[in-house]
Amino acid sequence: MPRRCVVGGCSNIPDGRGRISVHRFPKAKRMRKIWINFVNNTRSDFACTDNSVICSNHFTEECFDPSFAVKLQFGLDSRGRTLLDGEYPSIKCKAEPEDKVSLKTNAPSNSITDNARQ
Ligand SMILES: [Zn+2]
Repeated sequence: MPRRCVVGGCSNIPDGRGRISVHRFPKAKRMRKIWINFVNNTRSDFACTDNSVICSNHFTEECFDPSFAVKLQFGLDSRGRTLLDGEYPSIKCKAEPEDKVSLKTNAPSNSITDNARQ
């Protein structure tokens, strides 16, 4: 079963094409705490477990092993990026997905006014 990103407002799972990957919390206490603090800033009910993961959307490009981009380019490995040691998440959830915007009603305004009284 794919793991979901624990960051508030996000629930990404790996897309299987290497664009979204998920990353487990580091074992080292100090780093782990930074990760947990980050998640706590986005949601208050978070409790870290061994299954908790954060997706690649919350990391800057510099956090990842640069060889991934090369591998992807040559089709060698598209399973996901490798996070470099000592890196931590810093990007909160991105803007609302666009499909929510399209729910806005856009009714034409001139459909009722053509019953002129005589
Ligand atoms: Zn995420």
